[in-house]
This record gives sequence, C-alpha cells and structure tokens, in this order.
Amino acid sequence: MTELEKELKVEDIKAAAGQMGCPVQKALYFVTEFLAGPMCGRCFPCAMGSYEARIRLGSLVAGSGSEDDLLALRRISADMVEASFCKKGKDTGKFILDWLDTGVYQEHVAGRCPDRKCAAMIEYRIVPGKCISCGECKDVCKDLAIHGEKKKPHKSGYLPFEIRQKRCTRCGNCIKVCPVEAIVLVDAKATVGAGA
Ligand code: SF4
Ligand code: SF4
Ligand code: SF4
Repeated sequence: MTELEKELKVEDIKAAAGQMGCPVQKALYFVTEFLAGPMCGRCFPCAMGSYEARIRLGSLVAGSGSEDDLLALRRISADMVEASFCKKGKDTGKFILDWLDTGVYQEHVAGRCPDRKCAAMIEYRIVPGKCISCGECKDVCKDLAIHGEKKKPHKSGYLPFEIRQKRCTRCGNCIKVCPVEAIVLVDAKATVGAGA
C-alpha cells in the first residue's frame, strides 16, 4: 500500500467511525482499525501510543475505565499529535484528543454513556405499572432474557413481565415491539419507578 493509499484509508476509517453513536466507541474503532491497517510501526509515539490507547479506550467502553485511563489517554494523544512522524499518527492522536475535551470520556468513567450505546452502562427495563402482560417482548427476545406469563381472558393475578439483566444482550428488540411503551432504556445505575 502506498503512502497516499494509507492516507486515504485513514479518511475511510474516520468516516466509518463517525457512523458510531458513542464518541468513545468512535475513538476505539478508529484506533483499532488504524492499528490493523495504516499504522506502520516506524515511530514510537504512534506505535506504542496506539496500542496503549486501544487498551485504555476498551476499558472505558467496558465500563471499567478510571481516572488513570483519562490521564494516560491525554498523555498518549498529545504525544501522538506532537511527535508522530507523519500525518496519520497525528490525525489519530487528534481524533482521541478532540473527544477527550468534550467530557464524554469522563462520563464513561462515572459509569454513564450519554448516548446510551455502551452495553456495559445501559439496561432495558420494564416499568411494572405500564406492562399489560401481552408477551410481545418475550416472543422477540432471542436470548430468553424476559420472564413472564401472557395474560389470558377471565384470569387474574398476572405479574408484570421482567427482564433478567444477566441474560440481556442489550439488542433492543423488545423495546421496539412493546405496544404500550412499558420498556425503557436507562443508565444501568438509574432507578425506575412503577409508573415511570
Ligand atoms: S506516525 Fe506515521 S510513521 Fe509513525 S508509526 Fe504512525 S503511521 Fe508510521
Ligand atoms: S434487549 Fe434484547 S436481549 Fe435484552 S431483553 Fe430486550 S430483546 Fe431480550
Ligand atoms: S411487550 Fe410491553 S406490555 Fe407486553 S409484556 Fe412486554 S413489557 Fe409488558
């Protein structure tokens, strides 16, 4: 691959990363794809920085990020912008750094994905007071994560359906089919009331 082709590939990666909903996922995708392709390994700030940035960003997306990760990402990306030999490394460092300054990485350290895209930080929940026990959600859940019994005429005493969080893969299929909007997508740390 020529240098020009590699430059163009970085632009492709940037465009594809832009399609992702969460900035931390964008940065992780960018760095992962950069390492898999255009990164040539000829200079230390870019080569080592990209590897470490991928690990640190991965921790943020997985919900296990810390202040240390933020400090490291700031150091790595500043070094990449300053000392990388070529535009590809500088652009990658800048991509990470620009998002750092928006505060969204800090939100992830606090356990929140503002765009509600990082599976480790979100939950689908059924609001008990709204559920009419129709069973539509259970029918579409391929992961068997929804527990409940469909309401039948002339019978009473039905409990609202429930989502077993440990089985839920956050695919979002259930929320699309609920006829009464009884399923909500919330921060995993949030509490949801019966009538909310
Ligand atoms: S900055 Fe450029 S030369 Fe240095 S490792 Fe990255 S891609 Fe290679
Ligand atoms: S988000 Fe997907 S896996 Fe989770 S309960 Fe809904 S349908 Fe099932
Ligand atoms: S689709 Fe909605 S109303 Fe029907 S059982 Fe599921 S949560 Fe309850």
